[in-house]
Amino acid sequence: MRQYYRFKAEHPGCLLLFRMGDFYELFDDDAVAAHRALGITLTERTKGVPMAGVPFHAVESYLRRLIDQGFRVAVCEQVQDPREAKGVVERAVTRVLTPGTLVDEALLDDSATNLAAALVPSDEGVALAMSELSTGAFTLRLLRHEEAIGELIRRAPREVLISDALSDTERSQWRAHAMGCNASLAERPGWQFQDGEAAEILRRHYGVAKLEGFGLPERGALTTAAGALLAFLLESHGRRESEGSVADGTATSAIRGAAASGAAEAFARRSAMAKPLSHLRPPRLEQADDTLHVDPTTLRSLEIERTSRRGSDEGSLLSTLERPRTAMGRRRLREALTFPLARRDAIEARLRQVAALVDDATLRGAMRASLEPIQDVARIASRAALGRATPRDVSALGQSAVGCEQVAHLAGEHSAFATLASALEADLAVLATLGEEIRRSCVEAPPAHLREGGLFRNGIDAALDEARVLQRDADSWLADFQRRMIDSSGIASLKVGFNRVFGYYMEITHAHRDRVPADFIRIQTLTGRERYSTPELREFQGKVESAERRALDREQALFADLCARIAAAGEAILRVSEAIASIDLVSAFAETAATRRWCRPELVVAPCLHIVGGRHPVVERALESKFVPNDCSLGSGDQPARLALITGPNMAGKSTFIRQNAIIALLAHAGSFVPAERAEIGLVDRILTRIGSADELHAGQSTFMVEMVETALILHHATERSLVILDEIGRGTSTLDGLSLAWAIAETLEARRCRTLFATHYHELTQIADRSDRVVNLHVRVREWNDQIVFLHRIEPGRSDRSYGIHVARIAGLPTETISRAKAILEGLSVQHAAPELSADAPSGPSSTATGATTTATPRGARRQPGLFDEAPPHPALRDLREIDLDQLTPLAAFDALRRLKSLLGE
Ligand code: ATP
Repeated sequence: MRQYYRFKAEHPGCLLLFRMGDFYELFDDDAVAAHRALGITLTERTKGVPMAGVPFHAVESYLRRLIDQGFRVAVCEQVQDPREAKGVVERAVTRVLTPGTLVDEALLDDSATNLAAALVPSDEGVALAMSELSTGAFTLRLLRHEEAIGELIRRAPREVLISDALSDTERSQWRAHAMGCNASLAERPGWQFQDGEAAEILRRHYGVAKLEGFGLPERGALTTAAGALLAFLLESHGRRESEGSVADGTATSAIRGAAASGAAEAFARRSAMAKPLSHLRPPRLEQADDTLHVDPTTLRSLEIERTSRRGSDEGSLLSTLERPRTAMGRRRLREALTFPLARRDAIEARLRQVAALVDDATLRGAMRASLEPIQDVARIASRAALGRATPRDVSALGQSAVGCEQVAHLAGEHSAFATLASALEADLAVLATLGEEIRRSCVEAPPAHLREGGLFRNGIDAALDEARVLQRDADSWLADFQRRMIDSSGIASLKVGFNRVFGYYMEITHAHRDRVPADFIRIQTLTGRERYSTPELREFQGKVESAERRALDREQALFADLCARIAAAGEAILRVSEAIASIDLVSAFAETAATRRWCRPELVVAPCLHIVGGRHPVVERALESKFVPNDCSLGSGDQPARLALITGPNMAGKSTFIRQNAIIALLAHAGSFVPAERAEIGLVDRILTRIGSADELHAGQSTFMVEMVETALILHHATERSLVILDEIGRGTSTLDGLSLAWAIAETLEARRCRTLFATHYHELTQIADRSDRVVNLHVRVREWNDQIVFLHRIEPGRSDRSYGIHVARIAGLPTETISRAKAILEGLSVQHAAPELSADAPSGPSSTATGATTTATPRGARRQPGLFDEAPPHPALRDLREIDLDQLTPLAAFDALRRLKSLLGE
């Protein structure tokens, strides 16, 4: 327990999984936490010391569950063969797993990045350092406070680090923001966030005298954030064993023990690496204007990564596009959609590549087929650098090298990829040599770990071959030994066998007990038979074991050497992986474009949006040929207006229309073809949306408050180059407040001259278009037929005057009596509150009367919202019923009256 508490103290904030034989045990509070998180049994080691454990062979799945729940875990291994131990077995913490620093394949989602972020609020803004240890990426940004929050949501780091020296208020605010994006928050020692300390750790790690080369000042929030993040990464993965708990020699010799686990091997390999975290690239300062700004609300409401209602991947834009063939490509696709390009040259370059593959189906097919077998080489290279690569990783790298060469060769055939292919030549040569070496020396289907060897082929290393020959010869030696023993004892049924506890033995049934030679040594008695050994057999066992050990040692040495070579080629491999990711992305874009009749968008500077035959990619997939394409024209020659007000019945397709145009603009900026016949799109700086209603109760915001916060963000940020999508504004409050707000918001956007699509049920708003040629009315056509409406889903110029809400409610299955009553109330309200049409003037805002009292002007044409205590208008059936004179009613007339009353109820 003393040993346990020592490791526990060295890893504060971590659950410590302490290897004891075939189990990893947890004690004290850790045991209780694991019991709750994993549902494992809670026992006691000694009285009053809670203990819980998980079997070693299933540890990865338990680790995954703990990490998913936001725990940090330190894994403490036995790094000594227990048989060699004098006293307590040597142990060492071989892994520290935290949500943001995962690198093992089993713990990672291959289609998503896995980031850790450190943030430093300062007078200059919030510095945000982010790193993905599994690929070595390291970026920095300086953002305004609310931008930083948005960036956290968009990037979705798994772990956020802040200084414990921040004020209580700041810490609890950031904790809430981290919670909001499902990240776990780690409060780190304040000294790691100090200027001098942070700069020093960066200089030391990258071996530079000054940070200027990275575009970083020696002091300031950016440097502090980068330094604090690096300190954290080094702590979790970069610890050399000389800095750790076990001296070099101890661990390395301990690994030779037959009980050495896979993790312990990795520990030894990592210590062989030249420098911890050698694969981590220097921090790169990102510029905000490289990417189109798509805030988290927009990503959510356009359902880019997941659906807004159920939060599932299925039904999102991402899931609808053709999948890239490689994990690297899939991560790139997610990035392309969530961080679309902003610069026209970059977009055009990608579009050129997509177009090349759309036009050449053979090349596209060959490209996609060559990409298919390529594994996640970016993460494999990083694992090699971190000493966490497995034999399968190494073999996969060897196989993938072939795919990478093929892809690069195919790309080289087309001028659209020429620059990329030629920039790749040197790096590919490095990977090709390494790949060849791996394929020559490693088997194609290696074991998952190196515990029992079996990765390297025969004939590539003399020492390994020699040790293996001894092992192989063991079989024939044993057969010969068995024959000799049968001859000398005369027991024909004598058999030689092996088990892990006793090693080699001879088994003889009790029937022959009397004939057992005197020099046989009994080692085990079983029912009906006994097991024996001899000095000769023991000596042989020693030889075999030492040959096995030598073979294993040799394989481990060869493996460490190979991993070191992969780590040394890390930068080249990462550059190749970047190129493969982008080729995979454009191949997937091209596949989508070619198979679904998408067109190449034309990106122009003029702030227009001119789309012919546009479709919503997700809704179209669900409806197939039933989907009705629609045009949209804003700020173009034919249609100078930049704000379109879209009215129409519920369920007509307003939301679909406005979203599809935003998605088309986003796809174009991602460098993809778009679902339309033709699309001319003026470059956009931001896509801003306000769609649907949601509350953020955990952040203390009601539905209407969220709506207004989102609208405020739009009004503050929309520029002449922005695209704004509004789906209903002001529905969360009273009709008059809502209408007035919607009206004023429309006018503000009109003045901003941003391209805006505004879907609304406030038909009164359409009057804005009567007095401004910068606003146009569009409506969705329906056909009325026999008290039914037929949705045509066709967007046409002009306004709509009804919402058909009650009709849609009926289709939705509201009870008949409710529908009838609603119809009656609507009729009553229409009669009571019919007001004169609005003139061409805008409605005035709150105004003072001559007497000085303030009144709120009702936009003319708006129905007055009934007050809460206004009496509801009587139902016509009631009036009719009251008028019936029962004394005069004949049975026949009574029947007629009943029929009439029923029909008044709409039945
Ligand atoms: P509400 O005012 O009630 O929010 P809405 O006018 O915004 O309704 P949508 O939600 O866009 O209507 O569309 C409703 C349904 O109509 C969609 O789920 C889809 O099935 C269908 N639809 C929408 N647009 C089209 C289209 N262009 N072609 C065919 N069907 C469509």
